[in-house]
Amino acid sequence: MSRDVILSGAPGARNRRIAIIGGGIAGMSAAWTLEKARRAGQPIEYSLYEAAGRLGGVINSEIVDGCVVEGGPDSFLTEKPAAAALCRELGIADQLLPSNDRERKTYIVVKNRLVPLPDGLMFMIPTKLLPTAFTRLFSWSTKLRMAREYLFPPEPGTEDESVADMTRRHFGQETVDRLVSPLLSGVYGGDASQLSVRAVLPRMVAMEQSHRSLTRAMLAARKTAAPPSPSGRKPGSPRSLFTTLRGGMKLMVDGVAAELAPGSVHLSTPVQALHHNSDDCPDPKPPDCRYTCGWCLETSFGVERFDGIILALPAWAAAGLLRRVDRLLSSLLSEIAYSSSITVTLGYNSADLRSLPPGFGYLVPPTEHRSMLACTFVHAKFAGRTPPDKGVLRCFLGGSGNDHLLDESDARLTSVVLKDLSEILGLDAKPTFVRIARSRHAMAQYGVGHIERIQAIRDNVAALPGFALAGNAYEGIGVPDCIRTGQQAAEAVLHSLKEQPAPATV
Ligand SMILES: Cc1cc2nc3c(=O)[nH]c(=O)nc-3n(C[C@H](O)[C@H](O)[C@H](O)COP(=O)(O)OP(=O)(O)OC[C@H]3O[C@@H](n4cnc5c(N)ncnc54)[C@H](O)[C@@H]3O)c2cc1C
Repeated sequence: MSRDVILSGAPGARNRRIAIIGGGIAGMSAAWTLEKARRAGQPIEYSLYEAAGRLGGVINSEIVDGCVVEGGPDSFLTEKPAAAALCRELGIADQLLPSNDRERKTYIVVKNRLVPLPDGLMFMIPTKLLPTAFTRLFSWSTKLRMAREYLFPPEPGTEDESVADMTRRHFGQETVDRLVSPLLSGVYGGDASQLSVRAVLPRMVAMEQSHRSLTRAMLAARKTAAPPSPSGRKPGSPRSLFTTLRGGMKLMVDGVAAELAPGSVHLSTPVQALHHNSDDCPDPKPPDCRYTCGWCLETSFGVERFDGIILALPAWAAAGLLRRVDRLLSSLLSEIAYSSSITVTLGYNSADLRSLPPGFGYLVPPTEHRSMLACTFVHAKFAGRTPPDKGVLRCFLGGSGNDHLLDESDARLTSVVLKDLSEILGLDAKPTFVRIARSRHAMAQYGVGHIERIQAIRDNVAALPGFALAGNAYEGIGVPDCIRTGQQAAEAVLHSLKEQPAPATV
């Protein structure tokens, strides 16, 4: 917590009341930040409202036959510190488990066959000559195009564009189809032809500006990086690409829940309406609210008044609640598109998975016209989350334009996945268990113009006292980004309340 965010509390003054709406990881992180402020003596109290009957939002882990099954995220990027830092604060650092990077190998499905990503590929940029020259992933004309990019790079873009457009300018359409589209649909459930390169790949934009050629820029960055240590690991570099929690991502959510003030969490309590200093609030203003109690929210249990509000919701849900508060802000939020996803997790006896190739799994390009977007070999990605005699495959379906799949029955989704596994991996064994999780409109899509839209949203938020937004719609969709936005939202609300007159003495 920054030191200047300290609220004054005159003796006898009531505490400032802050509501957090949404109990996903962003809302939980905001609540934890407020709880720490409360413990540090700040005159606040907070209430968290969650529509569902459990906390965690899309984070949803269970143990089936001794295997950790994740319905939502299964890990986070190690290089983003917020998630591991939260686990350390919660005293669950012993649960942190690095990905098994010695086994890290990813395949792309090309005409029903698994083709490994060539060594030295940094996202879409080739940095090693031989593996790029000999890969079966690209045709010779694309390989020549990659060499030409080094020698005769295109003009840098002057405006935001889609990731697909930028890739095509540098490396051609095949690189879009076989590499960038499957990577983005696997990670973001997104469509490369819609996603903003400035929002999703800002480093590529900076590289293009500095070197014109992305290959030259990447090689230059590698040259200036510190030399590897004798162990082969660069000093200060993360030990693994991904980190998870041994017993499931949900431990993070449970850890925060256990620390929150008793009575502060309201489950199965969707917030139905939000009002700010307006006469349409259905409850007359109580006298002790007369200075800073500008917010009022409605649930099926009644009306509550607050000094501050944190909306930790998908942007479309935040837009709905803000319609009466700030029309422009609501309309900017509603412009942020969302995609849906489905995870189908299948348990197997490991003897049935002997024919699986080594690696973390594969991605399926949209040009293959399959429902499955990706498949993770869970037992290979993390050691110790499945018993030695079991194996787990986690398959993703959905993504941009495939919302209709959410309405399919479990039996139909299972049969679609089993057919794909049979055709791609030659796997015909019967799974010992199947778990299906549907996340409807859960993944924000940072479309072209996202950065300008976010700036406009920020400007509007700044005009609302005691108000902040958190979640995956703004500055990163990963778990660590959501934790960071939750912390920042809590700090912003505390800061804003500090600027308001002290509440009336009761
Ligand atoms: C299938 C899947 C796999 C993913 N994999 C990864 C991964 O491996 N690594 C990674 O870093 N990220 C991953 N992500 C992304 C990441 O998990 C999410 O972006 C992040 O967890 C979102 O958290 P959140 O708190 O912003 O939103 P959510 O988790 O969506 O939480 C929002 C909450 O608000 C509640 N709510 C909605 N409306 C109301 C209302 N009116 N009143 C009260 N409550 C309301 C909802 O019920 C929900 O609980 C994945 C996401 C999905 C869907």
